[in-house]
Amino acid sequence: MLLACPPVKPAPFEYHAPERLDEAAQLLAEHADEAKILAGGQSLIPMLALRLTSFPHLVDLGRVADLRGVEQANGSVRIKAMTTQAAIEKDASVGAAVPLLAKAIPLIGHFQIRNRGTVGGSIAHADPASELPAVALALDASIEVTGKGGTRTVAAADFFEGTWTTAMAEDEILSAVSFPTWSGTTGFGVEELARRHGDFAIAGVVAGVELDGSSVKRAAIALFGMDSTPVRASSAEAAVTGTSGAAADLEAAGQAAVAELDPPTDIHGSSAYRKKVGAVLVARALTQALEEARRG
Ligand SMILES: Cc1cc2nc3c(=O)[nH]c(=O)nc-3n(C[C@H](O)[C@H](O)[C@H](O)COP(=O)(O)OP(=O)(O)OC[C@H]3O[C@@H](n4cnc5c(N)ncnc54)[C@H](O)[C@@H]3O)c2cc1C
Repeated sequence: MLLACPPVKPAPFEYHAPERLDEAAQLLAEHADEAKILAGGQSLIPMLALRLTSFPHLVDLGRVADLRGVEQANGSVRIKAMTTQAAIEKDASVGAAVPLLAKAIPLIGHFQIRNRGTVGGSIAHADPASELPAVALALDASIEVTGKGGTRTVAAADFFEGTWTTAMAEDEILSAVSFPTWSGTTGFGVEELARRHGDFAIAGVVAGVELDGSSVKRAAIALFGMDSTPVRASSAEAAVTGTSGAAADLEAAGQAAVAELDPPTDIHGSSAYRKKVGAVLVARALTQALEEARRG
């Protein structure tokens, strides 16, 4: 019996390995929609190998030294795009400054993937079930995008436009992401449901709270796997702000978070199932965040 086997090698492409950011931007401008950026390759290479997509030119950012590293200043942590997810996972000072990154990154695939996968690649790829886009959205991160004409900054709230679609033009490079740090009595939580460890989430939530005495002064919540982009749960944030964060408050926040959503149905779960799970995950992520804040 003959079985159909998908191709496992990409279509031929010309490989470019610029060493400077302006050189990379120039190559993208030159080859327009025939060129694609290669970062850690953890999403792009499988798509090329399965021939779900193909590009005559790949521009590998791996040798652009100016795209790696972390800077902490002025109340934010600026992570350059080609910094690997594993490098951030291992960086205790980043974890202390932006605890949501430390909590979310270990849930991305497996360590082999995080060793190659980049922070910029994950956000640029904009998979709706990814953790880092949701962290960027919840924390109001600023995303720097560089093209031939220079660098502009896009708020995370304006960046994600649909599945694998962002506010970047085809010839622009995500060059860095700045995550604001929170001060005061704060706590953070990440909860997700996946079939197996390392799988993309069926549904997930990231949350942060700041306390004023025993009441919630500020809350930030974003869901992933629930729509074609990560979703900021503003109504849930409003529902929990000013409360003591009792169980009933968190349940109400969970219900508020999913009330307006119409999540996708796929082989992993129906829309109604995702809504039910999403509401529970919001309450759990807030519980985690509140417990951390109360521990001080
Ligand atoms: C088995 C498996 C499990 C996974 N599980 C998860 C998971 O649970 N959660 C999760 O979030 N991810 C998961 N991933 C994906 C992983 O996080 C990837 O690292 C990430 O999606 C893409 O990062 P990358 O650096 O590998 O980018 P690449 O694969 O190189 O690029 C991905 C896309 O983004 C574009 N791009 C990359 N960098 C830039 C840039 N700087 N500027 C502009 N465009 C850019 C590329 O052109 C391409 O279109 C998984 C991957 C695998 C193989």
